[in-house]
Amino acid sequence: MKSKRQITNQRGIERVGTLVFYPLAISPIHTYNRVMSRILKLYRLQQLDSQLDQNRSRINAIESLMTEEEELRAAEAAVTAAGSLLKEAQQRVRTADQNVRAQRLKIEQTESALYSGSTNNPKELADLQNEISALKRYLWVLEERELSSMEEEEKNQAAETAARQTFSERGAERSRLLAELADEKNQLLESIERLTDQRETARSNIEAGDMNVYSDLRLRRRGLAVALAEDQSCSACGALLTPARVQEASYPNKLVVCDTCGRLLYAQ
Ligand SMILES: [Zn+2]
Repeated sequence: MKSKRQITNQRGIERVGTLVFYPLAISPIHTYNRVMSRILKLYRLQQLDSQLDQNRSRINAIESLMTEEEELRAAEAAVTAAGSLLKEAQQRVRTADQNVRAQRLKIEQTESALYSGSTNNPKELADLQNEISALKRYLWVLEERELSSMEEEEKNQAAETAARQTFSERGAERSRLLAELADEKNQLLESIERLTDQRETARSNIEAGDMNVYSDLRLRRRGLAVALAEDQSCSACGALLTPARVQEASYPNKLVVCDTCGRLLYAQ
């Protein structure tokens, strides 16, 4: 059996083997066109289309990433929630402080009544003493409440500060990410522009009939119309190919399809 290279040589298209690796933009197009087989032209077009598909799909992903702000919005909501809790705690501290002050004032007033000498009645004096003791006991309760409300305020203050810090970090991360994504998108757009030019050149060298077959397959086979015949199998669906099929796939003027997936086969 002849080797693939011998078959290629026999058919006078050995130059294809070298030219296929040239970027289209710098390849000698006319020579390239004359010696390029029908399937190689389609294969080259497929490579460009696959690259274009990939770039476009990445741009879609980038655009969707650019609008996804859940994490940042969640961090922002956490700041608002922590802020509300802090305000409530601060209000409780103010109230507790007012209660303590009011109680101290009551004690002072009762003590002045006791020591002012306005009464000598032992019963009234004993009542005032009892009242002062009761007021002081309750002052102790109120001071405890104030203390614990201050501790709670401190905790809420720390939580609010941490939430602000997280929000600010997320904001910075987000800005960095947006800048990176914008850069990547610009590079992809430039690449698409280049590839589209190359595609136009590649397409103009393909006969209308072949182009129709290709376009139809691209639609029906998830964008992949041309598969490689390598290691005796179809690179797209993995089906084994007969030696005759592999040989046919290297003929310059014949289009051969995989019996399993129906894609065009190109043997390098
Ligand atoms: Zn196949």
